[in-house]
Amino acid sequence: MRYSQYLLPTTKETPADAEIVSHQLMLRAGMIRKVAAGIYNYLPLGLRSLRKVEQIIREEMNRAGAIELLMPMVVPGELWRESGRWDKYGKELLRLKDRKEGEFCLGPTHEEVVTDIIRNTLRSYRQLPLNLYQIQTKFRDEIRPRFGLMRGREFIMKDAYSFDVDEEGANKAYEKMFQAYCRIFERCGLEFRAVEADSGAIGGSYSHEFMVLAESGEDAIVSCDSCRYAANIEKAELASPAGETPPPAQELRRVLTPARRTIEEVAAYLKIPVTSLIKTLIMHTDKGEKVAVLLRGDRELNTIKLCRLLDCTWVEMAPEEVVLALTGGPVGFSGPVGLKMRILADQEVRLMGDFTVGANEKDWHLCGANLERDFQVERFADLRSAAAGDDCPRCSGKLEIWRGIEVGHVFKLGTKYSAAMGARVLDDKGEEITLIMGCYGIGVGRTVAAAIEQNHDANGIAFPLPIAPFQVMITAVNPNQEMIREAAEKLYGELQDLGIEVLYDDRDERPGSKFKDADLIGIPLRVTVGERGLKNGELELQERRSGVRTMLPVTEAAGRLAALVGNGLA
Ligand code: ATP
Ligand code: MG
Repeated sequence: MRYSQYLLPTTKETPADAEIVSHQLMLRAGMIRKVAAGIYNYLPLGLRSLRKVEQIIREEMNRAGAIELLMPMVVPGELWRESGRWDKYGKELLRLKDRKEGEFCLGPTHEEVVTDIIRNTLRSYRQLPLNLYQIQTKFRDEIRPRFGLMRGREFIMKDAYSFDVDEEGANKAYEKMFQAYCRIFERCGLEFRAVEADSGAIGGSYSHEFMVLAESGEDAIVSCDSCRYAANIEKAELASPAGETPPPAQELRRVLTPARRTIEEVAAYLKIPVTSLIKTLIMHTDKGEKVAVLLRGDRELNTIKLCRLLDCTWVEMAPEEVVLALTGGPVGFSGPVGLKMRILADQEVRLMGDFTVGANEKDWHLCGANLERDFQVERFADLRSAAAGDDCPRCSGKLEIWRGIEVGHVFKLGTKYSAAMGARVLDDKGEEITLIMGCYGIGVGRTVAAAIEQNHDANGIAFPLPIAPFQVMITAVNPNQEMIREAAEKLYGELQDLGIEVLYDDRDERPGSKFKDADLIGIPLRVTVGERGLKNGELELQERRSGVRTMLPVTEAAGRLAALVGNGLA
């Protein structure tokens, strides 16, 4: 492709409404343009990357035995009524009426449509298992579309649905998809983790989210440094620490801590480690319940775990006046000694002795406090968030913490849709069985955006080769100079003959601005055709990711580049 004849509108300015790097860079590199909130044009460069991701997905889905089809984007409301989701799905479902007042929606996901196909076409267990997939535009009227393709309203998704006659088959289908997803994200050149997600009523680890690791990710995840265990931090269980409560060695004593409220302030003032303090959080719930929660000084409360324990929807820190009324002291000086309310503690607290707590009195703390002797805990439970270095709950490894972007989701559905919509077949005894389903999604646009979050620097995008819009970029420093133009044109022709995807910057622009654009667009292999090199019979090759520069003899350039592309470099 010749740059001068392409549609590649790069910009210098960072667009004001783009908050995260991938969104900024996709706009600046001319990959996408906004049409309306959460709705984008995929410009030619952006589309090439999306198609690369789609192709990898398609190949791996086919290899795993899934079959591609294409379902409509406009779906009759009737099907959604059958599953019961028409009323439940809420405002993310964009509903519309046709000229005959018929109800329709724009498909945000396609369980209903695919289940309808299956119930109308299959009769016998012999026709199963089956896994059907499509790569298609979805619409979800997200309340806060943001971050460009990361959370759009209209977006491209690969969605697959498996159908099996028994649990064993359904579990196999799930495992196959899990493996296919690992291959897909590996082939995209991404660093990712498959993390256990909440499997709700189904039980077992039958829901995994695939997370691309990136600093800007919305989710915090933990993973073990030696086994495959990984989980969303909200769900990461912590092993119960072994050991006994130590016997008290110290007397309980009051110490003055003037205006020291936070754990760090108290520890610094008393010259003791934060790990010898216990923080007492006075929490209240949506049900109006109030509890005190004890945690080691350096730990964070995991409100999702606490919600699960208390069987409530939310928990929050109680407001100042409630803390005062319940403890007698202001916020920052709460402690369990003498406290007349439910006291829960993280399981780690059970192993602590001679610790420091608030005295429920302004400016005072208690040192040398001990369980049992000084106060009672109603229940010890796993209530804190995992931290780096914690023991893995599955093996003897240690946990690491990452931030991630969810790009894919595999989920065992069970019979939710097949039962509601009557997707049944006859088994070998002629009896009707309800099919067991699984569903498997990947956000195509989100994968490209996540790849950019993970692979960029101050100058622009640094695409992994497998999903780069082009493999090689040729920059002719000054195409008006005959020697340069001839050499660049020749290389361009040779690379095309070798089947390499090449973007040839033949524009009559200042070299500085051409190099800036090349950095911004992030094509993995960049060849500069300039006067100085040519005089020595050489071209300069620069790898976008590593920045490493090497000189290539003109006569060998095309072959060397082809070899690098073939080796899946970078
Ligand atoms: P999220 O929690 O981010 O809203 P989800 O749980 O609603 O995601 P699924 O219904 O499992 O997502 O959809 C499968 C995949 O589709 C997701 O893993 C994600 O990659 C992609 N996806 C979902 N919503 C969007 C969106 N609004 N914009 C772009 N991609 C999306
Ligand atoms: Mg969602």
